[in-house]
Amino acid sequence: MSKKAKIIFLGTGGGRFVVTQQLRASGGLIIEMDNEMLFIDPGPGALVRSKQNKINLLNLTGVFVSHCHPDHYADVEMVIEAMSHCRRKVRGVFYGSESVIKGDGEFYPRVSKYHLDRLDKYDSLKPDDTISLGKIKITATPTKHAEPKGIGFVFSGINKIGYTSDGEYFEGQENYFKDCDCLIINCLRPRDDDWPLHMNASDAKKLIELTKPKMAVLTHFGMKMLKGVAEKEAAWIQKETGITTIAAKDNMKLNFADIGSLKKFI
Ligand SMILES: [Zn+2]
Repeated sequence: MSKKAKIIFLGTGGGRFVVTQQLRASGGLIIEMDNEMLFIDPGPGALVRSKQNKINLLNLTGVFVSHCHPDHYADVEMVIEAMSHCRRKVRGVFYGSESVIKGDGEFYPRVSKYHLDRLDKYDSLKPDDTISLGKIKITATPTKHAEPKGIGFVFSGINKIGYTSDGEYFEGQENYFKDCDCLIINCLRPRDDDWPLHMNASDAKKLIELTKPKMAVLTHFGMKMLKGVAEKEAAWIQKETGITTIAAKDNMKLNFADIGSLKKFI
């Protein structure tokens, strides 16, 4: 496993219509860094998309689920099953929002005891909670989303990677994502197209301006971001902010060990 970060996008779809029709894949993303392999938000198709990308999920060391919407958790038990080498080992860690781990109101806990028993560690995280995994420090960030207990994540290791998860921009969100090498933003809609409790490109631009990451990646696209719109919105943000901004594609890999490979996006 690589030491410097590698990010693999196993899905870039968001919103119910895109995901249920699989207009974009919805398998979540994998971060490899500092000899850890972390699965973030294993949505529907996570196993299939991993296989497609020749990823061996038996190498996973951690699973993180941001909130209790199915496009973020649907395959979580299968991914944990793989991490525990088909339940033959007690292996790996699993962290999620309180709603994901304990359930909340209309949401059930997303992982049964049958699988939790095969983990080295699992716990729920609230905004501002910080845990360590090997050389990586992970901080949970707040969100303003339809799922009130949802969280985002910042992974600080040899590289610093932020993941907003779902939700609209709120004042102070920028304080959690300063100086990221890569800021991954779930951006459901184009600029000026408001959808309360979800991010659009205008708010993504604001967050990028305020946080100044080395690069930003838009993902989790709703219907209105398909057919080249996401790419146009990313180009607009890059022009306005001067910060490299790309629209993620299904199966896209970013390799921070090879900076040259990032230049093609600039
Ligand atoms: Zn959501």
